[in-house]
Amino acid sequence: MKISESVRAVLVADENPMHPDFTGIYLVGKKGRQSLTIDSGEALDRYQWFLRGYLAAVEQEEIAIATITHHHSDHSGNLKWAKEFLKADITIPANGRSLLKGRIPTKVDTLKDGDVIDLDGGVRVQVLATPGHSVDSLCFYIEEEGVLFSGDTLLGSSTTTVSDLAAYRRSLKRLLELPNLKVMCPGHGKIINDPRERLQMYIKHRDMREQQILKALEGGGAISSWDIMLQLYPDIDKRLRRAADSNVRSHLKQLADEGRVKLYEGKPRRPKSAARVQQDVEHVRQRDLAIKHGRKLEAERSRAEVRAQENPPTGEWKEPPRFELL
Ligand SMILES: [Zn+2]
Repeated sequence: MKISESVRAVLVADENPMHPDFTGIYLVGKKGRQSLTIDSGEALDRYQWFLRGYLAAVEQEEIAIATITHHHSDHSGNLKWAKEFLKADITIPANGRSLLKGRIPTKVDTLKDGDVIDLDGGVRVQVLATPGHSVDSLCFYIEEEGVLFSGDTLLGSSTTTVSDLAAYRRSLKRLLELPNLKVMCPGHGKIINDPRERLQMYIKHRDMREQQILKALEGGGAISSWDIMLQLYPDIDKRLRRAADSNVRSHLKQLADEGRVKLYEGKPRRPKSAARVQQDVEHVRQRDLAIKHGRKLEAERSRAEVRAQENPPTGEWKEPPRFELL
């Protein structure tokens, strides 16, 4: 799919429950000139097929440089392979090196905020450090064409996970400042054609959540994140409470770091003794055995019921009634 003058996208169908839609692989560069891939998927056949088969056959391109938006393995799984089979130069976020252990070749180039990748044919790709989803998250921007590659900082069809909320909110605001922004190519999900609106929506959503948390604290006294969560999400599906609590906690951490709320350290439960841990393990083993045995008995019973339907009722008759034509 052509996105702009020098950007093409391959959206590979995905089956990961966290991002069930697509994983995007992007090819940047003027046709027939040096090309760059941004993210290259997990170390699975179907991504490698796209990189080798599709790009070679349909686009008739060779990949000169392979880079990634961050270290997560669903983006960086094919870097070693790209080096070995495609002879591509590998470029990674400078602060992602230790996180990519085992997934990169020995010789790699590194990128940091403010760097520019200059491709043949005059394509300028700016590198922006946008920490938040992960510590090493980068976005890539081609200002001339208004195309931003957002990695997992912003997804096309779902919300992303955030490891550092304060950094994440700063990153979103920074992206909103980009001049000429027209289209956003995310790491997963559909291409975003209204990037500014989408960024504003996420920023507003986070601001609103923070306001709600501050309001919950206005009552005075110290309360736990769980209590705040129950106030903010009174009707939430109980299975999602832990996730909502973790969201509230990430806001509280930011507020505490900024000196806007006071944190009273909690008191963790004493860790269990080794004997107690062993006892729990044994309990689980016994329980699972009992479940397994129960399932076996249940299967036996249902088989017996079927057999009773299929076979003559020999249990009731020593000799069943018989019939003869008169
Ligand atoms: Zn990620």
